[in-house]
Amino acid sequence: MKLPSISFLFIAILVSSCTNGLNKNKHLTVFEESVGQKTATYYEGLEWWRKLEDASPYVCIQEFGETDAGQPLHLIIINGKKNFAKDKINESEQLIWLINNGIHPGEPDGIDASMLFVRDLVSDPEFEEKYQKLVILIIPFYNVGGALNRNCCSRANQNGPESYGFRGNAKNLDLNRDFIKCDSKNAKSFNKLFSDWDPDVYLETHVSNGADYPYTMTFLASQADKLGPVLGDFVRDELAVDLYSRMKNEGDEMIPYVNVFGHSPDSGYACFYDSPRYSTGYAALHHSIGLLTETHMLKPFKQRVESTHRFMHQLSVTLLSRSQKIQELRASAINNTLNQSEFALDWELDSNMVTPLSFKGHKAFYDTSKVTGQIQLFYDKAEIWERSIPYFNHMVATKTIQAPSFYLIPSAWQEVVELLAINDIEMKLLEEDTMMDITAYEIKDYHTAQSPYEGHYVHDHTSVETQYWHKNIQAESYYLVDVNQPKKRFIIETLEPEAPDSYFNWNFFDEILQQKEWFSSYVFDAKAEEMLKDPSIKKVYDEMMEKDPTFSLNSLNQLYFLYRNSEHYERERHMIYPVFRIE
Ligand SMILES: [Zn+2]
Repeated sequence: MKLPSISFLFIAILVSSCTNGLNKNKHLTVFEESVGQKTATYYEGLEWWRKLEDASPYVCIQEFGETDAGQPLHLIIINGKKNFAKDKINESEQLIWLINNGIHPGEPDGIDASMLFVRDLVSDPEFEEKYQKLVILIIPFYNVGGALNRNCCSRANQNGPESYGFRGNAKNLDLNRDFIKCDSKNAKSFNKLFSDWDPDVYLETHVSNGADYPYTMTFLASQADKLGPVLGDFVRDELAVDLYSRMKNEGDEMIPYVNVFGHSPDSGYACFYDSPRYSTGYAALHHSIGLLTETHMLKPFKQRVESTHRFMHQLSVTLLSRSQKIQELRASAINNTLNQSEFALDWELDSNMVTPLSFKGHKAFYDTSKVTGQIQLFYDKAEIWERSIPYFNHMVATKTIQAPSFYLIPSAWQEVVELLAINDIEMKLLEEDTMMDITAYEIKDYHTAQSPYEGHYVHDHTSVETQYWHKNIQAESYYLVDVNQPKKRFIIETLEPEAPDSYFNWNFFDEILQQKEWFSSYVFDAKAEEMLKDPSIKKVYDEMMEKDPTFSLNSLNQLYFLYRNSEHYERERHMIYPVFRIE
């Protein structure tokens, strides 16, 4: 066989290194081939990613967990260092950016935009040189069951594509409410992925509902006050400012997520309260910067995908230039949390803090609906106004607690133990019986939703009272959790029952809300008579007889009051939250 000449080899190497062997025309997407009318199906998307993996040394596709639909989840890893091993990447100084697409598969813009973004990125001859400090992870389809459930029409207000997936997953769950309770296999796999890769930055792609306005792209970040002073200030004052500026320079001005439903944004609007059930709220518990794109549903699909692609590219540039800074800020935020003793559990909008927002809006007007005969909001698209409107993007804590030194988690509640474990919480099963001074919470009040929400009758307005016990904790019945670990915020906001997305409020501990034993009135009557000889009990009893007719006219209520004060009542179980604190 004749060997090729040296000059031929040189040219071949040169060509190969200039293009990375990637011919963009051989990797056209379904979106491009349909001239922006179609989004890739689950199978088309994965096939496309596998071909890109074959063609590019910088792209690797892996499976990472189960879904409720049966098919696995996939992760695309893009690394200029051509290294795709999680442990090696975690040890490197590269910034890790995770992109999640298709959580609501009826909103598919990010599925197609990610394909364009990565293909264009890795076919850039300078990609390897430029992208040494950033690893991009992409979940091409998160809600696999929803992506497989294609239809033409379930997004009533949306302008394309021709067909798309459905919002609910295979179990009809909204996965963007499932990050804490993890009813889906998808969410459990995601929790594990998030712990394993520990992304510095998280981006999730959506399409909006709600008001009409001229912008294509709207943007939401982890609420800055909730994220904390180090990372929150950076996101609000630097990262977001840079992204708004970059998108404007690209001719695609974007605006904070228009959190407005049922009226127009004329009079201003507020930021979104992303409690931990939502992805950006979940990311905040891990000190990760959570970002969301919400393209406007009435803009054509093609325009929305191009805008999402543009945003991804601009975000990659801004992250590259700040990779070291973001990692240092995260380390500092985690360190601050380790030294922090007071933690906020719940938040509300700070109506005193107003940020003027230059906003372009369509003229809103009210007219009589020809269908209902009632007054209805409409927009005149021909008319665009521009003025400063109030934007409320600050929140204040409404409930704070002092962190304990440890929590004791009963091993009987295995589901809770499992969720903590997949979130990388270190726990130790108690090996010996131990007398301990503990704080127990008695649930004093809670409100339960009257209709199901995401498979639960959720509690809210939960309030507790503390009791201090000296108690023998039996060997192997409890896990000891040292609160002083990097996931401190996750531990506190899931285990403190008054936190809005606590495991208690998500019904994990409902067993303790029911009394297990009871009494027969005719047997207990004599005992009740005896108990009333105690002056302290008699005093309260008499007061209630005097003031409360539901008590004085109801013999069962009277006997139950005395039963609750007797030694027969299960006061260490009923209404006692079984997770204990050690101060
Ligand atoms: Zn969505």
